[in-house]
Amino acid sequence: MNLPIANSTVSIVKCESIHDSHRVKKSLEKALDLIGGIETFICRGDTVIVKPNLIKPAHYKTGTITNPFLVEAACRIVKEKGAKKVIVADGAAVGYDTEKAFDEAGLREITKKIDVELFDFKKAERIGVPVPYGRVLHRIKLPRVFLEADIVINIPVMKTHDVFPATLGIKNIKGVIREEDKKRFHKWGLSRAIVDLNKVAFPDLTIVDGTVGMEGLGPTHGEPVNLGVIVVSRDVVAADTVASTIMGIDPSEIEYIKLAEKEGLGCADLSRIEVVGERLENLIRPFKRVKLDFKKYEDKGIFIHERGACSGCRHNMESIITSLEKKGELEYLKGFHIVFGQLSKMPERVRGKLVFIGLCTREYKNKGYYIPGCPPHPEDIMNELKKIK
Ligand code: SF4
Repeated sequence: MNLPIANSTVSIVKCESIHDSHRVKKSLEKALDLIGGIETFICRGDTVIVKPNLIKPAHYKTGTITNPFLVEAACRIVKEKGAKKVIVADGAAVGYDTEKAFDEAGLREITKKIDVELFDFKKAERIGVPVPYGRVLHRIKLPRVFLEADIVINIPVMKTHDVFPATLGIKNIKGVIREEDKKRFHKWGLSRAIVDLNKVAFPDLTIVDGTVGMEGLGPTHGEPVNLGVIVVSRDVVAADTVASTIMGIDPSEIEYIKLAEKEGLGCADLSRIEVVGERLENLIRPFKRVKLDFKKYEDKGIFIHERGACSGCRHNMESIITSLEKKGELEYLKGFHIVFGQLSKMPERVRGKLVFIGLCTREYKNKGYYIPGCPPHPEDIMNELKKIK
């Protein structure tokens, strides 16, 4: 891993033959040539980690995980440039088996065919490293294999998310940490923790996989978007900025992108990013987002008191309600008054169960039930709500 770079060039290339490894490789080569060529940062004899998004066992056509043909293309390209060792590595989300995710993605066969290793970060030997200028993270245990790599290639998928408007490259790096730290990140402030992590786990190259993205209830329950594009940059912040714009999401709405730029990790200002290849304007395809009018649930006896919440808490609440509604289980929330947001106040004349969600409401924690976190994880919120029942 190298230090964050000043070059904020982002290439966008169409990649429409998404099930054909040869053609996916051609598209990736074109995207890399547009940013100066992979030979500008890979040296003969390097060890390279390729980090896809394998959040859970799933098929890439669902948009849940990185397209394995894109992973194969990245591996083949670095091998052709003389990389000594190439390792495809990830750690699935809390509660999911990474090995099963490798199987379902088809990566077991692909990596065998091209003589590349597979590695589950959940089984990694770890080394504690200090986080320079960490805001909430001062030390973190990272996989030895990750720290010892010369080059890290980050391949997130273009997806909507339950905590942020979108999950992209900066967020994808979270896959390297331990399960217990993944949970702690929510307590410490997810955006800040992710940005601190990127200070010690900064990727050398980010390839945003928009071959099949995901909209709606991402990152795992949404619908696939057959977009057929890839976005490539050495600057992960710039890659995320361009990718979110393609998704019709203003990058300034995504806390971790804003913070990452503020902390000097890259450029989030579109006017200062050099976009090469396809014209960005021609590819914008707004991704469906869960945007709820909380008022309409009052008829059902569910009262959401939100004031000034950032995207983390708002998205959590929206995805919890939408997924309960989809499963016909909205009854769970009947009789609840749920309070969250930075400007939240104690609601007046409440009859029912009063629940305060997130760090911003902690001053009221003795007035009802309190669920800590910034934002709390949607699963933790749901588990706590069920207990209150
Ligand atoms: S707890 Fe407050 S600061 Fe944290 S995500 Fe929720 S609204 Fe934002």
